[in-house]
Amino acid sequence: AKKNGRNRFSFFTPMMQAMAQARMRMMRDLRNALGLNQFTVYFQPIVDLSSQRIHKAEALIRWQHPELGFISPAEFIPLAEETGLIHEIGDWVFQQSAQLVKQCIPIVGDDFQVSVNKSPVQFRDRTQAHQDWMEYLSGLGLSGHNIVVEITEGLLLNADSGISDKLLHFRDAGMQVAIDDFGTGYSSLSYLKKFDIDYLKIDQSFVRNLSGEGEDLALCEAIATMAHKLDLRVIAEGVETTAQRDLLAQIGCDYGQGYLFSRPVPAEEFMQLLERSAA
Ligand code: C2E
Ligand code: CA
Ligand code: CA
Ligand code: CA
Repeated sequence: AKKNGRNRFSFFTPMMQAMAQARMRMMRDLRNALGLNQFTVYFQPIVDLSSQRIHKAEALIRWQHPELGFISPAEFIPLAEETGLIHEIGDWVFQQSAQLVKQCIPIVGDDFQVSVNKSPVQFRDRTQAHQDWMEYLSGLGLSGHNIVVEITEGLLLNADSGISDKLLHFRDAGMQVAIDDFGTGYSSLSYLKKFDIDYLKIDQSFVRNLSGEGEDLALCEAIATMAHKLDLRVIAEGVETTAQRDLLAQIGCDYGQGYLFSRPVPAEEFMQLLERSAA
């Protein structure tokens, strides 16, 4: 029995060790990725459902690892949060986004916005982020209204006053705020009156099975109605079919984002989409 036990133990150890090593390695590589130019920011169009034109873009980071290939942000953003690297990475994504705005304004006008994901950790440990961002924007001759900050509901639910102050700084600088993945995870809506929010992004899980009679349509419609009464705009995520788009437009959803319009694409490609959309 003793021998058996040891065998079982020695069977799991190498596997667990390998997993821990892979994780350590990814953390180490993540630390160097920015300096080695392994990140790219892709941009996905956000389309005005009444005019069918591109109105905004969401910035989504991509990591091309030299040996492991493409690594999903869903996998490495949590590591970046754990190591604190999310600050540097987040600032860099923001800067790339501001540069895109600068190039897009001549094509579509001054209302163009890029939406940037901001993790809760970025609010927790930094006090001056909004000032750094504003300096960067004004260096490019831009102002806050060209940027939307995407946060998740969780940030506002556990919000201590430090976090709400920081969110206010971004609002005071003219930036807008969107609630990402709206409708998942939490049931409390009271934060909607406590914080000044501009957009609700309906999570793609509600959009996926939209049909003329389903419950998801009722949910999307209820979200849109509530949002408009609170003077918020609604963006539906994960729009993949014309049927979904048409239903969303019917119930008064303001914007759509998803593979139907375009996958996330590199900046140059996004500019081409925008030129075509504005023509
Ligand atoms: P998210 O913010 O909810 O972003 C939307 C995700 O849905 C993106 O995945 C996008 O590529 C994908 N998507 C867009 N349209 C469709 C569609 O029609 N169908 C389907 N099935 N998916 C669609 P992605 O780019 O892999 O990003 C995953 C998550 O990683 C993001 O979810 C976000 O939470 C995080 N992330 C990405 N970039 C950043 C970043 O710069 N900073 C931070 N903090 N998080 C980021
Ligand atoms: Ca997002
Ligand atoms: Ca989302
Ligand atoms: Ca408002």
